[in-house]
Amino acid sequence: MRIILKWPSGSNHWLGEHPLDAALQMWKQHGIDGILIPLLPWEPSATFALERYPESCREYGLECWFLISVFNNPRFLQRYPDERVIGRKKETIAYPGWFAPICPSSSRFLDEWIAWAEDLLKDKKADALVLDHLFVPVFWYGSGGNVAEEEWPPYCYCNRCLSRFEESVRKPLEDVTALDWIRWQQTRISAALEAIRACLDRCIATRKIGVQVPPLASPGSLQPRPQYAGLNLEALKEHTDFTSPVVYHGILGWSADQVLAYLVEWIARTPQPVVPSFQVTRTHWDRNHRDPAQTVRQLLYRITPLPVEAVTLFHAGDLLTPEKLTAVLP
Ligand SMILES: [Zn+2]
Repeated sequence: MRIILKWPSGSNHWLGEHPLDAALQMWKQHGIDGILIPLLPWEPSATFALERYPESCREYGLECWFLISVFNNPRFLQRYPDERVIGRKKETIAYPGWFAPICPSSSRFLDEWIAWAEDLLKDKKADALVLDHLFVPVFWYGSGGNVAEEEWPPYCYCNRCLSRFEESVRKPLEDVTALDWIRWQQTRISAALEAIRACLDRCIATRKIGVQVPPLASPGSLQPRPQYAGLNLEALKEHTDFTSPVVYHGILGWSADQVLAYLVEWIARTPQPVVPSFQVTRTHWDRNHRDPAQTVRQLLYRITPLPVEAVTLFHAGDLLTPEKLTAVLP
């Protein structure tokens, strides 16, 4: 099982004061197998990252993965505020700097994303590419992943989504059910996934493309409910090479046992390779007060009997010293 470290930086950008070569060398020596580098659409840092990081990773024998966000983009929303998502009570949601969800029916956004990716990734190489927020926006950090079915979906109720949904479901909006919404949102997300996969196949040479799957479950249950984010297992199977279930135990308030039980369920449902995404460092959103590093260390030991090819470590701001790396990694 390979351990892939998401570039650890609080701002989701770059390390700043940490010299790149020293960091890569330290990670390689402590058992990290690859680096997952965020490419932020429309940010100049994406061009810089592509020029600098793949080569540096290869120099130190590390795999180079890219992480690209889809329906979450502050830069795009600055330009087109009307493309934001609208909640059930006509509310909007955004956390400046990192969560700026885009309406999943926005063809303007998808067209621009594809044009950006084709231009930026043309003739580039990566060991793998992970797509994040390729689902109907859902702020699971706030809900702890709990699905309140009677209030589903939380987003998007913009006029465009409402009229398209009503046209598709062919009944008045007051008669629709959560299941009607889920089926319609799945068609939107599956279509976006198909278009994005075709784009990536045209431009970047990579062995594998995967999707981050948010940890949604009914309250008190560890049964994964990806459909509540508009994800469809058949579409995932057709257009991706692996899935990356997100299990940030601190934010979810889950123990190691609960994380493993959820992953066992996920693995049983999908024939594809599974790359779990773990949390290393405490965050503002954490629901329990355990030391997250201790739990992730346990998880990295206990997950080995499961058919897992690799794991990605997110919220890994602590992994910038040899002492912390030794404390966390098996
Ligand atoms: Zn919408």
